Amino acid sequence: MKVKVYFVGAGPGDPELITVKGQKLLARADLIIYAGSLVNPDLLNIARPQARCFNSAGMTLEEMLDLMAEAVDCGELVVRLHTGDPSLYGAVQEQMDGLAQRGVPFEVVPGVSSFAAAAAAVRREFTLPGVSQTLILTRHEGRTPVPPGEGLAALAGHHASLCLFLSAGSLVAAAAELAQGYGPDTPAALVYKASWPEEKVIRGTLEDIARQAAAAGINRTALLLTGKFLSAPYLRSSLYDPGFGHSFRGKKDECCNCNPD
Ligand code: SAH
Repeated sequence: MKVKVYFVGAGPGDPELITVKGQKLLARADLIIYAGSLVNPDLLNIARPQARCFNSAGMTLEEMLDLMAEAVDCGELVVRLHTGDPSLYGAVQEQMDGLAQRGVPFEVVPGVSSFAAAAAAVRREFTLPGVSQTLILTRHEGRTPVPPGEGLAALAGHHASLCLFLSAGSLVAAAAELAQGYGPDTPAALVYKASWPEEKVIRGTLEDIARQAAAAGINRTALLLTGKFLSAPYLRSSLYDPGFGHSFRGKKDECCNCNPD
């Protein structure tokens, strides 16, 4: 493993949901900077006792860049642990660009995003034939502006499966905007702390999900899922249909030479 900065996806919470590559890097790291608000602290048990660990919550971008650059300069292996996958709402671009400007080498190790853990929690597939073949990952507008054309009411008009990040604190407004495009009866689920021991799933519709969330006291670390994928009947997939052959499997009524048994 080369000495550089590794941006590692920590996964959604369960410490076993980090990748093997991420786990190996964490076990060898000299310096670890982790997102304290969402990364499971149990992951740090993998680290060497002499590793220096910093919570990014109390740091500025410049402080992080200085710390990472100095460590790599001294020949140290640096792991920057991001919750879920770093490519989603991770503020990782400015870190990568800052390192590139300083000539510091880095690599990204992807992780299991919380949207995947939320689908696992509700035991549904986002992309059901005949229901939706598209998943929209988005957020309600907060301090970070959302560009024109990406408002929730507009996105809802697609009737695609949708997963809303960073919006548990503004669910009343978010669900109302989504209901404009999907309709108030559309199934919705709120998944709190997917894959953590305290995981909770609340099911309802766009009309009542915010009320239910408030009653359960959930206003952070949750994803709102909505769309017909949560309950609608769907078409069987072509992939495993006996009448549908493809390059890895002939039709069931065709003689297949690929299996000598
Ligand atoms: N990069 C992360 C997202 C970071 S933004 C990822 O790929 O998952 C932080 C938001 O992600 C939270 O406000 C919440 O909406 C969501 N989130 C992160 N972990 C979560 C979890 N275990 N369960 C539910 N939502 C989660």
